[in-house]
Amino acid sequence: MAPSSKPRQCLVTGANRGIGLEFCRQLLERGAEVVATARSPGRANDLNHLAGEYPGRLHVLPLDVTEAKSIAELVRELPLVVDGRLDLLINNAGVLHSGERFGHVTSTNLDDSLRTNASGPFLLTQALSEALEDGARVANISSQLGSIENTTGFYTPTYAISKAAQNMATRLLANALRERGIVVLALHPGWVQTEMGGPDAQIPPTQAVEGLLRVIDDAELEQSGRFFDYNGDPMPW
Ligand code: NDP
Repeated sequence: MAPSSKPRQCLVTGANRGIGLEFCRQLLERGAEVVATARSPGRANDLNHLAGEYPGRLHVLPLDVTEAKSIAELVRELPLVVDGRLDLLINNAGVLHSGERFGHVTSTNLDDSLRTNASGPFLLTQALSEALEDGARVANISSQLGSIENTTGFYTPTYAISKAAQNMATRLLANALRERGIVVLALHPGWVQTEMGGPDAQIPPTQAVEGLLRVIDDAELEQSGRFFDYNGDPMPW
């Protein structure tokens, strides 16, 4: 895919709410075909409503990014909905365990954060690598909380550790896929008004996703393996 061309066949994880749902909305508005994944498609009311507005262009499939079987099932089903080809993969699904304090951080939270935020995007991208067109793009939705350089204090530790690990996964995937012209990015969406971001967050999902799609559309191979915010400004690792 040439730089600045718009992806036509896209897959978004964690698409039933928040930033993932907004990615689907904006991609559909601009004419793309979207595979939207959710852990429980039967309960994904907003997503299913959106599918009704775009018959034949929004395909809702189940995916729990922490389950190898679920990833394998998605890979098997993909050819049935988009001839098995993708030019954009958005690893958006994520989890944040709030209220963690030093001395009380649990291995359960740490395992869940690492599996959802780091292993999930890495293993899904690996599993879908054959489905990605040469020149495709992979957007790993990271967070400024995963930036080691920006970290002071002891906030959201299991989330921060897992997003830092995801950032390493982004760089490694970029290196593995570079020879096929595939661009892999780590992207901070801003502090966004979603269930995770909470009511005090600074920007609505519409603004975050408009910015993120601009960064994804404009990304060239030289930017692959790097970390940017939704304005396209570089983020420190
Ligand atoms: P939400 O909490 O609103 O949505 C999270 C989504 O991830 C839901 O669809 C959820 O599904 C899904 N999800 C969680 N665990 C899994 C799993 N194991 N398998 C598949 N899907 C899963 O969060 P946001 O929309 O705000 O966040 C989207 C991304 O943006 C995340 O990666 C987050 O870390 C990142 N981000 C968000 C910021 C913000 O301010 N909101 C700031 C920085 C980064 P379910 O409904 O089934 O739980």
